[in-house]
Amino acid sequence: MIGAAVSTGREPLRLRFARLAARTVRTRTVQERPHAPLVSFTFDDIPATAAEHGASILETAGGRGTFYIAGSLVGTVEPERRLVTAEQCRNLHRSGHEIGCHTFAHRAVSDMAGPALTDDLARNAAFLDGVAPGVAPTSFAYPFNTTSLRAKRQLERHFASCRGGVSGINSGRIDLGFLRAVELADRCSNAEIVRGWIARTVAARGWLIFFSHGISENPEPYSCQPDLLRLAADEARAQGAAIVTMREGLAQVIGDRAVRPE
Ligand SMILES: [Zn+2]
Repeated sequence: MIGAAVSTGREPLRLRFARLAARTVRTRTVQERPHAPLVSFTFDDIPATAAEHGASILETAGGRGTFYIAGSLVGTVEPERRLVTAEQCRNLHRSGHEIGCHTFAHRAVSDMAGPALTDDLARNAAFLDGVAPGVAPTSFAYPFNTTSLRAKRQLERHFASCRGGVSGINSGRIDLGFLRAVELADRCSNAEIVRGWIARTVAARGWLIFFSHGISENPEPYSCQPDLLRLAADEARAQGAAIVTMREGLAQVIGDRAVRPE
């Protein structure tokens, strides 16, 4: 997701309202079935360190993660981070991790709603199928945590779940078009905060979705150190929550009910 704080004082009021409406107007709500407390670990973009360190930490804890890939970023190097390679994506898939979609272009979906977004999603699907045949992502995460109602409705038709970055636990009636998620990054979290979120999730028997980017001793922007991810995974297990991918979590939350956009 990177760069979540995109709001500026110069943004026209109309656009600010549209963005707020897209986050808060629920367009694909569903009542959760009773389920065990769930914790998902998700990664956006993704930096290579998420594949190199994040995946193995989750595997050691007996879980798997969801990695939202934007095809245009794969194999690239930016000033502050090195992105995942196609081979690393393939290995994640082979190791049982979930590959999700994060658009191909890694642009705000509000700027692409309509045919351009359709084309972009098809391009990412083709790219990912080339990397890991049969991968067929059913989970989506919004780049920059931003959307519009039009784009949200469009994405809800493509994917079983769409994840945003507004903090909160998913419980009760949840919006599958904009699932809440809690950032796991050194700049905004620590062991105490993580324990608190997991404890509240267990008490509510809800679904907590963490999101991060890279996992490194020298974290890239919006990333965290391996110890914090390890603590979060261990704490989830210790408090009685199951570690699930987004696809697995959704199956527990809605079962085999077909959920259609409203
Ligand atoms: Zn992103």
